[in-house]
Amino acid sequence: SMASPALLMRVVASAYSIAEKAATIVRNVMSAGDLGVVEKAGPNDLQTKADRLVQMSICASLARKFPKVTIIGEEELPTDDVTEDLIEEGHCEEILKKPCPAQYAGIKEEELVIWVDPLDGTKEYTEGLLDHVTVLIGIAYGGKAIAGVINQPYYNYEAGANALLGRTIWGVLGMGAFGFQLTEAPAGKHIVVTTRSHSSALVNECITALNPDHVIRVGGAGNKIIQLIEGKASAYVFASPGCKKWDTCAPEAILHAVGGKITDIHGNSFQYNKEVKHMNSAGVLATLRNYDYYASRIPNTVKESLVP
Ligand code: AMP
Ligand code: MG
Ligand code: MG
Repeated sequence: SMASPALLMRVVASAYSIAEKAATIVRNVMSAGDLGVVEKAGPNDLQTKADRLVQMSICASLARKFPKVTIIGEEELPTDDVTEDLIEEGHCEEILKKPCPAQYAGIKEEELVIWVDPLDGTKEYTEGLLDHVTVLIGIAYGGKAIAGVINQPYYNYEAGANALLGRTIWGVLGMGAFGFQLTEAPAGKHIVVTTRSHSSALVNECITALNPDHVIRVGGAGNKIIQLIEGKASAYVFASPGCKKWDTCAPEAILHAVGGKITDIHGNSFQYNKEVKHMNSAGVLATLRNYDYYASRIPNTVKESLVP
């Protein structure tokens, strides 16, 4: 007889379909042309109609299926006005068929925390840099990021008007990550990927100290982790507060599932229990390989400026 799938696999399988619906909303809001931009903390901290609708869609869809799970989304929104057309009830059958890693097979709903970034790279979205955008659903247990889904709504946009847009990457610790081709960065080259729209003197001081061969400046935490796992960059370095737990949870689970490492600039791992503060105050350092090379070259002056 078939045992019913473990809760974690049911959550990931649902999050996969929910992220695909989210991507459709992201594309539809852009094609409709009315972004409804609102400034949150300031001109570099924006929210659009897509951020709002997608957060409602993801959180309401997850909450309906998994009512005891804690769900923390980036946007502060009223919870009462979620229309039925925003609800996704489907799941990815292929994920459901895979065995759950034994250490996660007994997880209960009330033990999971899901961190939702409905649209990562909003600044770039408003500027038409659509391939920087991702939808992030990160799943934490015992304070650790253990599973994640990253959807890129505009993946494949270079392929022309008739190309099928978008892809979904997912992963679970102990299983691996799927939906992309794991690729090593060029050997012997130091390619650093960092922020495009949230630079500062400290961000640049840190990158200069690493003496990279090349620096890639693009939006989105999700987008930058994809650059690492597809071999476009060798390190993601962001010596600044600004990134939040919903930016790093899904990317962390996927990066760790393929043997990479992400920490703050001091080397501290991130915690994802529901009580944790949202801000990653001491920045981000992430690599697929050679973490120690980069960690050992972060200047003390930079570290002293970033209090965890
Ligand atoms: P970025 O690499 O600039 O795209 O930042 C990655 C994520 O962290 C995005 O969700 C940003 O909105 C967020 N972020 C980073 N720095 C800041 C900041 N100074 N203010 C607001 N959000 C930020
Ligand atoms: Mg974000
Ligand atoms: Mg966001």
